[in-house]
Amino acid sequence: MAWDFSTEPEFQEKLDWIREFVETEVEPIDLAFRGEDAVYDTKHPVHKEVIRPLQERVKEQGLWACHLDPGLGGLGFGQVKLGLMNEILGRSAWAPSVFGCQAPDSGNAEILAHYGTDAQKERYLEPLLNGEIRSCYSMTEPQAGADPQQFVCRAYKEGDEWVIDGEKWFSSNLRWASFVIVMAITDPDVPVYQGASMFLVPTETPGIEVIRHTGLGSEPLGEPGGHAYVKYNKVRVPEENLLGGEGQAFKIAQTRLGGGRIHHAMRSIGVAQRCFDMMCERALSRSTQGEQLSRKQFVQGYIADSWIELLQFRLQVLHAAWVIDQRGGQAARAEIAGVKVATPKLLKEIVWRAMHTHGALGVSNEMPFAQLWMQAPIMGIADGPTEVHKVTIARQALKDYEPAPGLFPTGHLPDRVAAARDRFAHVLDLEIGNL
Ligand SMILES: Cc1cc2nc3c(=O)[nH]c(=O)nc-3n(C[C@H](O)[C@H](O)[C@H](O)COP(=O)(O)OP(=O)(O)OC[C@H]3O[C@@H](n4cnc5c(N)ncnc54)[C@H](O)[C@@H]3O)c2cc1C
Repeated sequence: MAWDFSTEPEFQEKLDWIREFVETEVEPIDLAFRGEDAVYDTKHPVHKEVIRPLQERVKEQGLWACHLDPGLGGLGFGQVKLGLMNEILGRSAWAPSVFGCQAPDSGNAEILAHYGTDAQKERYLEPLLNGEIRSCYSMTEPQAGADPQQFVCRAYKEGDEWVIDGEKWFSSNLRWASFVIVMAITDPDVPVYQGASMFLVPTETPGIEVIRHTGLGSEPLGEPGGHAYVKYNKVRVPEENLLGGEGQAFKIAQTRLGGGRIHHAMRSIGVAQRCFDMMCERALSRSTQGEQLSRKQFVQGYIADSWIELLQFRLQVLHAAWVIDQRGGQAARAEIAGVKVATPKLLKEIVWRAMHTHGALGVSNEMPFAQLWMQAPIMGIADGPTEVHKVTIARQALKDYEPAPGLFPTGHLPDRVAAARDRFAHVLDLEIGNL
């Protein structure tokens, strides 16, 4: 009997250390540098003065970059352990950087580790793993995100160089990145899934022209945001900057996105739990019409629904993590997609209820809810919209089924009843005979 929901004591000790460390040392950084881009800008003084010493303490605990294999300086934690860890890190915007597992650098590091040359690893992977530089992943195009068949950004060979020509959109963190991983079409005559390739492009390469840095809805229009609309204007890179061979882009992307999606979900548990904590505190602190909010049945309903949804989601995420650990990311495609679909829904409901329970204060800029609530639509779009992931789930689920052999479904009652009556005819006949 192997079903078990317990955490082994040694790992629980690590989780306790992480929780205490994040609450006391990291969450205050969120408050001091609220709304600033400092988290991505490794040249900001806070990195040298505050973040580096904290990263050293994380390394001393053996908790640095735990998503990576031991050969790359990580501990090779399985996804279940990463899940338990990330739900604590999700409480703070800075915590993933302090623990060396911030997106999109974590996924980009995995790509470089697998497909980079030794020289590329030395120049980009090592400082990336050390948290000294940032990176960017550039796949989405202004006219096409969820449908890669509409991608037009091209890369073609000239001599011993690749030339990249086209536009990309929502290339997050390009402003602060030292290199970009760009997806481009290298063979337009075959389906995009076989004709797209990936390139390592240093950001100082001539021809990278930023059209604008788009911000998110909650940020002021006109100020540079974190998501670049960029033109690769005949950008030239040496041939060894092709990662993993021609036509391999989607195979590489899949490796990168599988882990990333589940880590986002894990961190969303932390966000939702934080909102749940604030909602419960508020329900016990505020009175209206002669009694605490916590005694109003509607509010009890918010708390009960949130508690149930949070527990269901946590189990779903940890189960998906367990499937990845047992059978690998490819076999867990439906589970990963399921978690991706469930994440925005959970955030939408729980952040909303927590915000609503706080009344005007909840929607004000004196509480974090409005900013956290933006996470719900973002989680529904980034790394592919909900609808596309539902399609994946349905396709995977349908693989276990076949069409009905005849005109009527196999569940059609007249045939099933007739077959069952045949099977028990000896008893049924006896009953009739006894009447
Ligand atoms: C915060 C954030 C960060 C991002 N960072 C990056 C990054 O670093 N690098 C990068 O390359 N991209 C990044 N993206 C882009 C992201 O991957 C795309 O936005 C996403 O793939 C959706 O593409 P789109 O925006 O073009 O939407 P579209 O493809 O235009 O889809 C719009 C809507 O159409 C509907 N739809 C689409 N396809 C289907 C379908 N098959 N069936 C039914 N309905 C459908 C859905 O409702 C969907 O939301 C980021 C996005 C966000 C929000």
